[in-house]
Amino acid sequence: MNKPILKLDKISKRYKKIEILKDVSFAMHAGDIVGLIGLNGAGKSTCMKIILNLLYPSSGEFYVNDKIITCKQRDYLKDIGMMIENPALYEYLTGYQNLEILSSMYPIEVTKEKLLNMLEKVGLKDAVNKQVKNYSLGMKQRLALAQALIHEPKILLLDEPLNGLDPQAIHEFRQIIQQLAKKGVTILLSSHTLSEVEKLATHIVILHQGQVKFNDTMNQFMLLGKRSIHLRTAD
Ligand code: ATP
Repeated sequence: MNKPILKLDKISKRYKKIEILKDVSFAMHAGDIVGLIGLNGAGKSTCMKIILNLLYPSSGEFYVNDKIITCKQRDYLKDIGMMIENPALYEYLTGYQNLEILSSMYPIEVTKEKLLNMLEKVGLKDAVNKQVKNYSLGMKQRLALAQALIHEPKILLLDEPLNGLDPQAIHEFRQIIQQLAKKGVTILLSSHTLSEVEKLATHIVILHQGQVKFNDTMNQFMLLGKRSIHLRTAD
């Protein structure tokens, strides 16, 4: 099997004496869509912040392309795109302007054509010149996704991107994610509920109170049956 593009190895995170993550290990390979599932407070965002080097683990290591990442490293971040929960957008600017502002912060040249392509890729071609305040929630989420894609990352971290979306918007978002994965982007997608990601994920990692309760392929997950996994997460 190919080497993982990203690997967490026994990552723990403590705030004073409270252990938020305990020995969290999982790996992601190119093109994987990993569903990171857990209830509120399970530690999903903490995992993502550690991958982004916004938080340092209390113990354990993580690797990108087989290279151990220390707290001083920043270079690897050029390969990572992140869509946070409830992304902040400039409501009175257009979708295009929002993307343009963000792209100006990157040390790379981003042409108008590229920005328009990006907006088309996330299904916002017809809303390029519309003010964001007139976007639906689904459109705003897709604009936030376009922002995360500006620097063409190899790894995409999506923190509960489907929250609050209606079924049609979820369907559209899923299709975009699938397209990205087909092109080799590796995606970590967090959610409270399995049903949101099971149509999408190639792998499932279930976090419960900071511990991994399940970590395997979606096929294996289906074989074992959701019910048994659910019982295991509740013990
Ligand atoms: P949600 O689905 O609600 O976003 P989550 O799975 O992303 O939850 P985290 O945000 O990672 O969970 O939080 C995990 C736990 O860590 C929670 O109990 C939270 O209260 C706690 N926590 C997060 N940040 C801190 C902090 N700075 N100090 C102390 N505890 C914290």
